[in-house]
Amino acid sequence: MREKYEPVIGLEIHAQLKTESKIFCGCSTRFGDTPNGNTCPVCLGLPGALPVLNREVLRKATRAALALHLHINHESIFSRKNYFYPDLPKGYQISQYDRPFSEHGWVEIPTSERNATGQAIEWRMKRFGITRLHLEEDAGKSLHEGMAESATKSYVDLNRSGTPLAEIVSEPDFRSSWEAYDYVQFLRRTLLYVEVCDGNLEEGNFRCDANVSVRLKGAEKFGTRTELKNLNSFRFLQKAIEYEIDRQIEVLEAGGRITQETRLWNEREAKTVLMRSKEDAHDYRYFPEPDLPPLLISEAFIQAQREVMPELPEARRRRFVAEYGLSFDDAAQLTDSKGLADYFEAVVKASGNAKAAANWMLNELVRELNHSGKSINDSPVTAEALAAMIEMIDNQTISGKMGKDVLIEMYQSGKAAKEVVEALGGAQISDVEQIRAMVEQVVAGNAKQVEAYRGGKTTLFGFFVGQTLKASGGKANPQIVNQVLKEMLDS
Ligand SMILES: [Zn+2]
Repeated sequence: MREKYEPVIGLEIHAQLKTESKIFCGCSTRFGDTPNGNTCPVCLGLPGALPVLNREVLRKATRAALALHLHINHESIFSRKNYFYPDLPKGYQISQYDRPFSEHGWVEIPTSERNATGQAIEWRMKRFGITRLHLEEDAGKSLHEGMAESATKSYVDLNRSGTPLAEIVSEPDFRSSWEAYDYVQFLRRTLLYVEVCDGNLEEGNFRCDANVSVRLKGAEKFGTRTELKNLNSFRFLQKAIEYEIDRQIEVLEAGGRITQETRLWNEREAKTVLMRSKEDAHDYRYFPEPDLPPLLISEAFIQAQREVMPELPEARRRRFVAEYGLSFDDAAQLTDSKGLADYFEAVVKASGNAKAAANWMLNELVRELNHSGKSINDSPVTAEALAAMIEMIDNQTISGKMGKDVLIEMYQSGKAAKEVVEALGGAQISDVEQIRAMVEQVVAGNAKQVEAYRGGKTTLFGFFVGQTLKASGGKANPQIVNQVLKEMLDS
């Protein structure tokens, strides 16, 4: 049944722009402060208070727009979006409407469907259009004591009122829940790279809504869409869209019609539930904000931001594949954050071994970081320290197996590789003469096995290797042990 239909999905993201103060006043944007402590007549919406635009918001918005290939309008207009809500004391939100800050953007990103265990099936590149990125102020926050209907008390915290938001609206270009999932992940990563948003879903500074409809395959007209809100994790977003596609197809197949409405994701029951229907949808009565002049952005202003743009994650991923010969997955993981990618390149620069740098980071270091809840920026093992350890393996001072223990000890103690190796009982033995002496003893002490080996029982070779390694306390370089043994037994 599902095969007959094609889902059509559009996404709206509210990203809080990272600034010290709010968009139209000097109040702090710090999260978690005493409720209503960071407020003033402007963000409380007191009569007569006038908004003044924060210039830093424009720098951040410009970088976000450039990263998403958006055209920045040299002139845009702030408009009032009127609606009533307890956490919106002015009775309107200052936003942008018919002349937004920027429009006509796109991203081209890797995306893949997932199998039942959540593994990517096949990555391919796909381009998604971005309709616009505009600026607006956030509303306050309502907190309810008790559950929704039976709430006994409600509180309003206006600390969030007036924090700067970039609303990023996509084209309805997504055809599956996983495309939507990959896009929002990508967008968050990009905004973190250009340092314009913290991307913290729990603190609400990166929020996502989805518009979902279905149509018969081949049909040109879009079906009636529903809007999904409150998707406060990437997995919830994906699951809610998936559920909504199935729900709509079921309604249509039963001969019903989809009604335009807003629905919420209920994670406990794993389904979307009705929040409000179109009948009580808002008419926002937009009009130009009389207290703010048109917003003028010069080419020089844009250029100044263009010059401080870092390499973007997708470009960097591709370069990692081309320049260091990494696999798609390794390159994707290493460019997941700017910190991780910078660390990787520092290790490569110091060690000259990209493959080893990727392997040690992704197999060992990232696991240790996850265990201790640290980010790469707080890693007790610096890039230079990891590079020094990789060099000790490359020049056979220690074995790769020893390296694992050495790295864990470096991580826990913060000591350098050399120190740790000495403390663990010395380096690997690579001296051929020293190893030959050990091999000679093993051969002399196992005459029967030597005879059997020379008589054709070559599987005994492993036995001699094991005996020699044991005699060395595990420190003999296995490659050299192999060589010496071959020479001696086969002679
Ligand atoms: Zn204020």
